[in-house]
Amino acid sequence: MTFDEISKLSSTMPTFHDLWLSGGEPFLRKDLAKIIHLFYTNNKIRDVRIPTNGLPTEQTLKTVMEVLEQCPEIRLEVDISIDGFSETHDRIRAVPGNFEKALKTMSELERIRERAPNLTLYVNSVITRENRSEIVQLGHYFKQSHDLDGHYFQIIRGEPKDQSLQVIEPTELQQIYTETLPLNFEYVSKPTRKKSRLDGLAKAFWKAGYMFSYETQFKNYAYGTKWKMPCTAGQTSIVIDYNADVRVCELRKPIGNLRKFGMDFGRFWDSIERKREVQQVELDQCFCTHICFMYDSMRHSKRIMLWELPKLYAKYAMKRLAATKARSVSSSKVRIEEATPTVTTG
Ligand code: SF4
Repeated sequence: MTFDEISKLSSTMPTFHDLWLSGGEPFLRKDLAKIIHLFYTNNKIRDVRIPTNGLPTEQTLKTVMEVLEQCPEIRLEVDISIDGFSETHDRIRAVPGNFEKALKTMSELERIRERAPNLTLYVNSVITRENRSEIVQLGHYFKQSHDLDGHYFQIIRGEPKDQSLQVIEPTELQQIYTETLPLNFEYVSKPTRKKSRLDGLAKAFWKAGYMFSYETQFKNYAYGTKWKMPCTAGQTSIVIDYNADVRVCELRKPIGNLRKFGMDFGRFWDSIERKREVQQVELDQCFCTHICFMYDSMRHSKRIMLWELPKLYAKYAMKRLAATKARSVSSSKVRIEEATPTVTTG
């Protein structure tokens, strides 16, 4: 899409909150900061998330600085994709030196973040057959060697060219989630730079969100289990492709092209094509492991937010309390493990 087309799109969209710009490689687009500013002004977006391969260092730093300067109220999250240690990552990405270059970008962004509290940095790792044996170690490596805000671990989804990448035993995935969840919790427990009175509550919800999404993903991956909430793809979120194709989620086929609607988003939103696809999603029951849509559907479900997440957190907190009590009455000869968060698999 040209900048003018995106501009028309933004001017026909309502106010909304989150803009996630993915690729290919989003930072290759020279007018990325200008695009973000457009949505910041017209649509009042406040949360922007950009996954990147970390290769175009200069362009990334330039864009991030521009966004932070031009959009002072924005929370900008940059997610650097790293799928393994140097050898594995460079092989998967088929780019020699990719790992080192991505780390360089990461370190530079960490420096910018020292003076920019609205910037957060994450690593995004996709779990595949090729990296399953080193992914947990990778998580520990980043926790110790960098000052990140978090690390996402996601099971490979969709239809990759090499389907064997998806061959991971459920027990292996369960083990990975069980070992990465405490890492996620450590990141959440990090003292935030912006403290609020609701900090403790927000962290509890965040942790419960991790437990819930790992559990939902695992059950879907291992047993094809449906989510505990309906998928709201096409109702609370929409995917717009580089060529103006539009789809309710990245795993389903395009349902139209915005150029046919004169780049008028309102016309598309009211169209029969979108409404039909929303009905079709419900009929298909196509539940998947896609975290973006799972997360969005979760936060739009009162049942999950007001019942499932507090219940999960309460269970975890009680286990933790019991372990602390047991430890306080134990003699120095008895070793009692502290309660660790677990991924329920039954
Ligand atoms: S459940 Fe998964 S595949 Fe189905 S619409 Fe939602 S995100 Fe897409």
